[in-house]
Amino acid sequence: MEGKGFFIDLTKCTACRGCQIACKQWHKLPAEETYNWGSFQNPKDLSFITYKLVRMEESLENGKVKDWLFFPDQCRHCLQPPCKMVGDMDDDKAILQEWETGTVMFTEKTRNLFAEEIRNACPYDIPRVNEETNVLSKCDMCFDRVINGKLPACVLSCPTGTMHFGELEDMKKMAEERLAEVKKIYPNAVLGDPSSVRVIYLFQDQPSKYYGRAVATVGPRLYNRKEAFAKLFRPTKRS
Ligand code: SF4
Ligand code: SF4
Repeated sequence: MEGKGFFIDLTKCTACRGCQIACKQWHKLPAEETYNWGSFQNPKDLSFITYKLVRMEESLENGKVKDWLFFPDQCRHCLQPPCKMVGDMDDDKAILQEWETGTVMFTEKTRNLFAEEIRNACPYDIPRVNEETNVLSKCDMCFDRVINGKLPACVLSCPTGTMHFGELEDMKKMAEERLAEVKKIYPNAVLGDPSSVRVIYLFQDQPSKYYGRAVATVGPRLYNRKEAFAKLFRPTKRS
């Protein structure tokens, strides 16, 4: 299975947030209550009702702002998704991987999973839980659009040529070619985990400068169920 993929060229992103809004609109997700927390990045983080977030960071040099780094964060639709591997232990219908596109989809049955385990399994810190229902959510690649031959809403909305979508092989090729070009100006430029995900970012500088979980440098932090239960039910000392 090759399936579909994204190429996201961060050297072109202007943080207009068109993609963030288009995602909300297509999925009919309500607005977040936001506040001024000292950054143009708003809301502050992904949530059960925000699947896509344009993260913003200042890159400093000698105490002065060198660059604004913009990072439209979303699920990477991993080729071998750790969230699904962990979820399958409790309900193998809760997280699905569609065979034609490779989309990783969370269903209502995620309510049967241990949300903290799924969150900890994701190397990119993507899944979010509805505290009331225990259902998990994240980007679904606009699967309903894609199977009808349309682009994901975020890609369609992007006015700068940052976001691309198509066959995964084509996206990989486009990413490699653009990387070679960009490296002439930005020698630190790099692709994010191109062999293990369907959403390939081109970073103009070290990924960690954009966001601590931009790439899976440490791998999935697999949750140890045995240890967690041991902590919960640790016998208390009698006085
Ligand atoms: S990025 Fe996280 S939530 Fe998305 S498929 Fe990979 S492990 Fe699952
Ligand atoms: S729509 Fe394009 S340019 Fe605007 S924030 Fe999203 S990726 Fe960046």
